[in-house]
Amino acid sequence: MKMGLVTYAPEKVKGFDLHVYYAKWADGSIFPAAKSMQNDITCFCDAKAIREDPSIVAVSKNGLALRKNRKINVPFDYVCPTNPEYRTKVLDYIKELDSEGIQGVTLNLYHFPDEEFCVCPRCVELWRQSGLNWTEWRAQTITDFLKEAKSLVYGTFAVEMFPDPVLAKERFGIDFESIAPLVKYFHVPLSSRDYFTNYWVDLLTRDFLKVLKKPVVVELSAEMLTAEKADALLKTVAYLSRHDLMGVLLLVHDSENARKVCRFAVNNGAFREWLRKFEFTELTRIVDEWAKLY
Ligand SMILES: [Zn+2]
Repeated sequence: MKMGLVTYAPEKVKGFDLHVYYAKWADGSIFPAAKSMQNDITCFCDAKAIREDPSIVAVSKNGLALRKNRKINVPFDYVCPTNPEYRTKVLDYIKELDSEGIQGVTLNLYHFPDEEFCVCPRCVELWRQSGLNWTEWRAQTITDFLKEAKSLVYGTFAVEMFPDPVLAKERFGIDFESIAPLVKYFHVPLSSRDYFTNYWVDLLTRDFLKVLKKPVVVELSAEMLTAEKADALLKTVAYLSRHDLMGVLLLVHDSENARKVCRFAVNNGAFREWLRKFEFTELTRIVDEWAKLY
């Protein structure tokens, strides 16, 4: 199993094999490419673009796809995925990044906000013309976007998803079966403020491994660590290391944040003994490697 990072800093850290850099954020911030790293691009969530042109937001009978709309429950502000100008803007950005010597591109939030979206006049017209039912049209719209994006990427192409293994197609238009041939691996974000309760991480990981027909990496949050949180996080990684995962990614603010996790594991005798006692051989191997570096 590989250990990797999802980071806001464009630099690699020793002891980690996968490096994902947040190049475009849901607030609309855009950063220069991080060379020889996997660059993560937020596609249709863009609070800044929506502030500048409110007409591009996705629409439902319960109102707009905005965080402030309490009739729905969305974590970000969503642009309608069929908006041709915005779509072109995102694809142009992907093309530009790909020309900068990056390792590859991971797309996130490339889908509809939820089942009842989007019923703007353009989407309704496109749906009618398609002759497909609502679920199939929305899934095809998203898969077509991903196909176009992939055609612009020379390196590794991967996608994240809203972590719902069962209703992804109906709710978001994410059709794992038709996406699998496009990607090298799936990146499943299982973010949390802490992992004191962690059965759901194991549960969703098993479900995704069963559903996804490509290698899987799981992302856990490692920001704002206290000693207790770091211990719970590393034990959760230990349980994940028993599954057939391509890797586990830790979300960190910066490189020092990542090194802190390594040092905590290396210097924590009780944790290393716990790994040995319960035969977590894969994570024992990884922490032993970290011990040579930190
Ligand atoms: Zn629309």
